[in-house]
Amino acid sequence: MTSSYDVVIVGAGHNGLVAAAYLARAGLTVLVLERRPVIGGACVTEEVWPGFRVSTAAYLCGLLQPKIIRDLELERFGYEILPKDPAFFSPFPDGRHLFVWRDDQATAAEITRFSSRDARRYPDYEAFLERVAGFVEPWLLRTPPDLLRRQWRDVVTLGRLGLSTMRLVPSDLIQALRMMTQSATDFLDGWFESAELKSSLATDGVIGARGGPSTPGTAYVLFHHCMGQAAGKRGLWGFVRGGMGQIAEALSSSARRFGAEIRTGVEVAQVLLRDGRACGVVLAGGQEIRARVVASNADPKRTFLKMVPPSALPSDFLREVDGIRMDGVAMKINLATDGLPQFRAAPGAGRMDGIGPEHRATVHIGPSIEYIDRAWQDARTGRPSEQPFAELTIPTVYDPSLAPPGKHIISVFVQYTPYRLTDGSWDDRKESYADRVLDTIAQYAPNIHSIITHRQVLTPVDLEREFSLTGGDIFHGEMTPDRLFFLRPVPGWARYRTPVAGLYLCGAGAHPGGGVMGAPGHNAAREILRDWKRF
Ligand SMILES: Cc1cc2nc3c(=O)[nH]c(=O)nc-3n(C[C@H](O)[C@H](O)[C@H](O)COP(=O)(O)OP(=O)(O)OC[C@H]3O[C@@H](n4cnc5c(N)ncnc54)[C@H](O)[C@@H]3O)c2cc1C
Repeated sequence: MTSSYDVVIVGAGHNGLVAAAYLARAGLTVLVLERRPVIGGACVTEEVWPGFRVSTAAYLCGLLQPKIIRDLELERFGYEILPKDPAFFSPFPDGRHLFVWRDDQATAAEITRFSSRDARRYPDYEAFLERVAGFVEPWLLRTPPDLLRRQWRDVVTLGRLGLSTMRLVPSDLIQALRMMTQSATDFLDGWFESAELKSSLATDGVIGARGGPSTPGTAYVLFHHCMGQAAGKRGLWGFVRGGMGQIAEALSSSARRFGAEIRTGVEVAQVLLRDGRACGVVLAGGQEIRARVVASNADPKRTFLKMVPPSALPSDFLREVDGIRMDGVAMKINLATDGLPQFRAAPGAGRMDGIGPEHRATVHIGPSIEYIDRAWQDARTGRPSEQPFAELTIPTVYDPSLAPPGKHIISVFVQYTPYRLTDGSWDDRKESYADRVLDTIAQYAPNIHSIITHRQVLTPVDLEREFSLTGGDIFHGEMTPDRLFFLRPVPGWARYRTPVAGLYLCGAGAHPGGGVMGAPGHNAAREILRDWKRF
């Protein structure tokens, strides 16, 4: 085992592993150091209770870039997506329900029960998102231009951006520009009239966002979740066989095949500097490991405010990093159950056993846009929502091997649970709040309490402690338009490089941001290789 490497990567989140695999494939010696006992970061499977293999944080895959899957041969190393169909099931308090299916025509038929006008428009809406995604998606794997330095390469990139914009027909371009700044509500109001359909679709606009559907900027978040084609069709999401950690396992096998070393249970305390440039890392135990390049998969605040001495960074850069909004708003409740929830509003309600389409879908508990906005208004003032908004998924319906025979795992993603509470602490309040969430679910699925055998509750504070996500922010920084593309993580530093020569950012805090996408890791590796000959 050598103690000097070409590249040390801080963190074995999926982005760190993607970067490791590409760099090792290019012939560099790579060491990945992970603080936790397991790899994957927020993209992980853990045996929380004997026989229950739980995707403790991220639970669905849709954005993982097909190029990465191909380049790193992830399918050969055990990655398999199980496409989710129906996409959504929204039960409503009056007993009605809405399914959104993989097949647009089937969805249109559902929507007819709410609005025949919306049913006619739905295929056009999907086609519009598809066209705009076709325009945006290539930019996920490109390095943004630098608007501050404006070198020749940046001018060329901006030119390419302008040209590709012109490929959109004018009406799409106008809609797309609006979508970048609009609220999800305003965007959806432009398409549909049915309150039920709009609340069902708006959910994607607020996942992980510090805002309600009526907050400007959430239309982009909605669109972000419609991109990707990891499950074979644009916008389609799926479960991963073996849980989300199987992505990390496939990535690590791919990286190891090219010689990358991955060590777990090793915390990096500091980036080692010599003459102002990164030359390795210092571990929490004091050991030094030398490297010509250090790439951090930790979030930008953790990287620059904790691992680099302030004297090594310009004060305006530090101010910008400090200003990144990273107060998380989401909580995860993982449940082990010995049965399935029976939804009052499901078509087969009353059925005592068996799997219905509602169990195969993401279930939305958030019956109207007003309900979700109200939930956000509570959180704005530092209170967990009086009426929680949640989405449920049941991975064992697709992959029974995740739990003992006849048992299930239910993943409950809850918003809005502010990181900073005005009253009390999360440690004191988390179990009672989880009860409140389950009581709310019970209004739709009355048997929920009776089927739960174990539960794990992860508040934003737990997400910070367990997963090193500053502020419990699931995306390493907000995904609003003022924090994307050349503004991510901060203006002037969107090209994966940092003010410290030899130190790079390769995680979700960099373009194009959060979600299990692999793009920041892919792009950072490309920029490191570009600079490599100069080291
Ligand atoms: C509850 C939750 C639900 C989510 N649901 C989804 C979903 O369903 N689908 C989806 O696409 N996205 C989802 N996301 C978002 C997505 O999981 C993340 O945006 C993404 O996984 C971030 O990947 P990353 O590799 O950039 O960083 P991370 O996964 O955060 O990995 C960073 C790694 O660095 C390690 N680290 C940090 N500091 C140090 C140090 N000093 N020394 C050593 N190691 C260190 C951490 O332990 C961690 O392993 C969810 C996130 C959460 C938290």
